[in-house]
Amino acid sequence: MRQLFIFFLFVTSIFGAEVETSRWSSGETYLMFLEKNSLPLRPLYYNLDQDEQQLTEEIYSGVHYQISKEKSGEISQIFIPLNDELQIHIYKHNGEYFFETVPIVSETRTEAFTLKIEHSPYLDIVRETGSVKLATIFVSSFKHSLNFKRDLRKGDRLAMVYEQKYRLGKPFSMPTLKAAMIEMRGKQHYIYLNDDGRFYNQDANEIEGFLLGNPVRGARISSYFTKRRFHPILKKYRAHSGVDYAASRGTPIAAAGSGRVVFIGYTRGYGKLIKVQHEDGYMTLYAHQNSFRKGLKNGSYVKKGQIIGYVGSTGLSTGPHLHFGLYKNNQAIDPLRVVQVATKKLSGKDKTAFLQLKSNYDESINLHIANETKHAKLGVPQSVCYFYNGEFCVQDRLNSDS
Ligand SMILES: [Zn+2]
Repeated sequence: MRQLFIFFLFVTSIFGAEVETSRWSSGETYLMFLEKNSLPLRPLYYNLDQDEQQLTEEIYSGVHYQISKEKSGEISQIFIPLNDELQIHIYKHNGEYFFETVPIVSETRTEAFTLKIEHSPYLDIVRETGSVKLATIFVSSFKHSLNFKRDLRKGDRLAMVYEQKYRLGKPFSMPTLKAAMIEMRGKQHYIYLNDDGRFYNQDANEIEGFLLGNPVRGARISSYFTKRRFHPILKKYRAHSGVDYAASRGTPIAAAGSGRVVFIGYTRGYGKLIKVQHEDGYMTLYAHQNSFRKGLKNGSYVKKGQIIGYVGSTGLSTGPHLHFGLYKNNQAIDPLRVVQVATKKLSGKDKTAFLQLKSNYDESINLHIANETKHAKLGVPQSVCYFYNGEFCVQDRLNSDS
């Protein structure tokens, strides 16, 4: 019944006139947001449990959220995404405000495009798709293995297969690259996203990307990364935007990669916290520290493996541990996908499974190129063609980035 009620609220607000979509500004905290909108802090923050309070620190800058208002101008409900699967829902019922976390309803589509290079892969993808995100993902995926500047020629071809989530009819969150091809001087280079979450080339060798070291040596993992989990006892949705390493108070914490300290200080949820910005849009986060290494400050450069602080239990924490987070372009990703010592070469069963997956993607890419070439011959502009659920050229991409 309650679900139905929420659904009704959601539908009326979406089709009503009073829904505003805004972007979460950088540096804005959840508490600032409540105060700005004159919303009551006690039911919407101070009375929440620790995990929920912690989640409110996960709202990322730039995310689009919705506020719906009654005719009087009073806020009736708010949806704020925490990641691409879970969102905060604030709603008014019988004159009181409530907080809950609810799944994000989204549709995932597989799309693909191909184009001939006129200027550069980046510029051409933006021109073709209207998406800076797709261009960024494509270029960064080949960055460590190929030299576009040196080896690309005008007229070379590229192709990309990716998954895009849609929320309320608009592209939502970062697309996931599934396979990509770029031709350079007549030779085609491929990368594929394997089921293990890592990228490989056509020879089943892992593409070397951003590699992180372990932030706490020899520690046991006490909690894993999850975007959305239903807690069966509390009957609430939860997310854990990092990995917890259990270790005794005072255990040294090492920078997982080289980079610059962009935050060092205290936050209510994460306690003593350090954030380090790395190359390619990666950022690591080290929370609940007992103390920081002396002399470390905002703007300091740290090297991979260098001690930055010591394990503690500051902030909303139940015992000494390191909460270690990894973000790419502001969005939390699973650190364990990136923490490793060396690149992998697939063999045996793993290689067989990968080759099967690879041949499916190759088929998609080849069909798409053939189809696009056919269209080009017919004089159909290449930008109208998209791939969806195995059908080609069914529709335009619905919208540009959101
Ligand atoms: Zn944690």
